[in-house]
Amino acid sequence: MGSVEKSEDEWRAILSPEQFHILRQKGTELKGTGHYDKFYEEGVYNCAGCGTPLYKSATKFDSGCGWPAFFEGLPGAINRSPDPDGRRTEITCAACGGHLGHVFKWDGKPVPTDERHCVNSVSIKFVPSPAPAVAPKCGSCSCGRR
Ligand SMILES: [Zn+2]
Repeated sequence: MGSVEKSEDEWRAILSPEQFHILRQKGTELKGTGHYDKFYEEGVYNCAGCGTPLYKSATKFDSGCGWPAFFEGLPGAINRSPDPDGRRTEITCAACGGHLGHVFKWDGKPVPTDERHCVNSVSIKFVPSPAPAVAPKCGSCSCGRR
C-alpha cells in the first residue's frame, strides 16, 4: 500500500482547504458538524483524498459521539499508529496516508467488534450502492408483477 504519493503542494491543489487541513495536517472537524454524522444510506465510504474504499455503510453505527463511527474498516485499507502522546491511536488511509481520525475501544451498545473508528466526515466520501436492478416486467402471465 502507500500507492498514492503526492507532495503537500499537489494535495493542496486537489483538496479543499478543509480537506487539506484534516487529511494532511491531521485536523479534526467540529463535533456534531460532519456531513456523515447522522447519515445511514447504503454504500461505501471512500477516502476523500485518493478515492480508495475504506468503510462499508454496514459497519457504520450511531455512537452518539458527534462524528461518524464505524466498527470495522475494509481489510488492509486503514493503517494505525499511536499519536505522539501515546494516548490515542490515529487511523490513516493506507493508500495515501490521509488522516481519518482515531480508533477507540468501544464498550457501548453491542457492535460486532469492540472498536469505534471515529472518522472525520471531511476525510471520507460516500458512494451509494448501485440501485437494485429493476425487475423485468412480467407480461406473460397473471402474476401481476410490474
Ligand atoms: Zn487515501
